[in-house]
Amino acid sequence: CKRVIIKVGTSTIMYPNGTVNLQRLDKLAFVLSDLRNQGKEVILVSSGAVGVGLHRLNLKESPKTIPEQQAVASVGQSELMNLYSNFFFNYGQIIGQVLMTRDIVEFPESRLNAINTFEQLLKKNVIPIVNENDTVAVDELDHSTKFGDNDRLSAIVAEITQADLLIMLSDIDGFYDRNPNEDADAELFREINDVTPRLFSLAGGVGSEFGTGGMVTKLTAAEHILKQTSQMVLANGEDPTIIFKIIAGEDIGTLFT
Ligand code: ADP
Repeated sequence: CKRVIIKVGTSTIMYPNGTVNLQRLDKLAFVLSDLRNQGKEVILVSSGAVGVGLHRLNLKESPKTIPEQQAVASVGQSELMNLYSNFFFNYGQIIGQVLMTRDIVEFPESRLNAINTFEQLLKKNVIPIVNENDTVAVDELDHSTKFGDNDRLSAIVAEITQADLLIMLSDIDGFYDRNPNEDADAELFREINDVTPRLFSLAGGVGSEFGTGGMVTKLTAAEHILKQTSQMVLANGEDPTIIFKIIAGEDIGTLFT
């Protein structure tokens, strides 16, 4: 495959104590840069702005009001991009920040603009790093979400860029028949061809402290991907070199195809 979207959750780039996992960010930058050198086109969709912002502002938990939350996201987003920029620079890569709103699904002109921007960035060998524009889009932070979460956003980015594969990295090895953190006997689905209501009933609630999506939004993303006849792999982002194995076609995580 040529064009790959990689989505990382907050749990992948932050330690549970709320600090940034620098090893992980560094490794992620290394892997994506190497893929770029191999001639692949890669786009990163990264969560974590709120988590990084909370840490930077020395806050223990997310503030209550939406403007306060958005202020945290604003600080965290630039801090996060600064980190990415430095790590990617070490591996000889240039990054470009792409902040999106729901406009890209609602307005054809916005959609076309976004498509053209991605094409230009990739043509210039830039690695786009995508997030929702939190300062104008309230949905994600509000948890009332329709488009808001980055799981769904990554599926839409995969759609508009006609990507061959979406790799979704989380803190879990894939999609199980029940929450493995609650039941050790949970079994991993290796391959899913159809996202049914039954699967949604197995998805449970939100998992990690900072995670907003949980498995429900990952299934919604997968549903979207399958409609585009593209593919998605849900895997553990603990070791980002797993991305090499996934692209090599190894049997890892849950493949939606
Ligand atoms: P991220 O921050 O990577 O987007 P989330 O924390 O939002 O991830 O979602 C991952 C969590 O979803 C897992 O850690 C797990 O606790 C929970 N979960 C609930 N049901 C399931 C299931 N059926 N299979 C796998 N994980 C599940």
